[in-house]
Amino acid sequence: LVAEANEDIRRRIRTIPDFPKPGIQFRDITTLLLDPEGLALAVERMIAGVEGEIDLVAGIEARGFVFAPAVALALGAGVLLIRKDGKLPGATIVEDYALEYGTDRITIHADACAPGARILLVDDLIATGGTARAAVRLLRKAGATVEQAAFVIDLPDLGGADALRGDGIAVSALVA
Ligand code: AMP
Repeated sequence: LVAEANEDIRRRIRTIPDFPKPGIQFRDITTLLLDPEGLALAVERMIAGVEGEIDLVAGIEARGFVFAPAVALALGAGVLLIRKDGKLPGATIVEDYALEYGTDRITIHADACAPGARILLVDDLIATGGTARAAVRLLRKAGATVEQAAFVIDLPDLGGADALRGDGIAVSALVA
């Protein structure tokens, strides 16, 4: 049944070659989102993988923002926005992470979560895990308890999900 549901999600995601640059196989979830059944199924399956109580669902900009509120509403949790640098108006804490060329920075409001808040991290896709691992470091720096992360897509060959598990996170993904 799970395999069937996940095939229903997989076939609604399209792969666009060479975007945003040559050699990248871009997994495009816009087609999943356009389909009411696909969207509902994806959110339902993400929720099904969650264990225990969650206070906040942390979505990573930008496609994590699509799924985080739907998951949070079902869990009775709030939404915490993890944003790219320079977008949040209040005092922030930041975390940098390495890209292929250079570095990137993610931020949250310094007062976004109470110490010990139980957080579920959400994004559309995990590849190298650089983004998600930086998000975990950032949330932990803020004093939060982060033990679970949910993705629609895992690209397992890139090792991100395994690396995140090494950081003590239970990782769930709907399709690989
Ligand atoms: P990473 O930090 O390498 O795990 O990359 C994850 C982030 O980059 C996520 O926010 C994804 O939305 C995006 N991303 C990375 N690779 C792809 C891909 N092949 N298709 C679509 N999005 C991707």
